[in-house]
Amino acid sequence: MRVRHLHRTRRGSYEPRRRVRSQPARSGPCSAGCLTWPGVPGVTLLGAAAHLMPPAGLGANMAMLDATELALALAAGPDAMTAVLSGYETAMFERGAAAAQESADIMEILISPAGAQGMLEFFQQ
Ligand SMILES: Cc1cc2nc3c(=O)[nH]c(=O)nc-3n(C[C@H](O)[C@H](O)[C@H](O)COP(=O)(O)OP(=O)(O)OC[C@H]3O[C@@H](n4cnc5c(N)ncnc54)[C@H](O)[C@@H]3O)c2cc1C
Repeated sequence: MRVRHLHRTRRGSYEPRRRVRSQPARSGPCSAGCLTWPGVPGVTLLGAAAHLMPPAGLGANMAMLDATELALALAAGPDAMTAVLSGYETAMFERGAAAAQESADIMEILISPAGAQGMLEFFQQ
């Protein structure tokens, strides 16, 4: 998100100047909780803001991958911002959904009665 799209609140935090409408996906791999949204010029999300997922060891890695992919795309095409953000979001939605689904599956094992045995079998697959 560009700085000019944010404003500083009295409490010192930053908020978007205008709301970006996002929606939970209702089916498919995104049912694990990730969001999609129609493109907004000059604005995007990455990391947990884009694809909050259960803590199963993927979230920080996905956030760093998002940052790297977005930075590389912006550096390669600084004059084509809308196309760059669209390309980034298309790929990010897909990998974010897959990671969210995998995290949800792992969490399901962790909290199941099988517990540790289930995790052992997961790592032995
Ligand atoms: C218990 C637990 C264990 C985890 N274990 C792992 C693990 O082993 N491996 C892994 O890869 N991931 C793990 N994760 C997930 C990982 O912590 C997150 O995916 C990662 O921190 C997301 O990074 P982020 O930068 O997108 O968001 P965050 O780390 O949440 O950073 C967002 C920052 O923005 C600030 N902020 C929020 N709103 C505002 C505002 N309005 N103005 C200014 N600042 C604001 C927040 O204070 C925060 O510092 C775990 C998460 C939890 C909860």
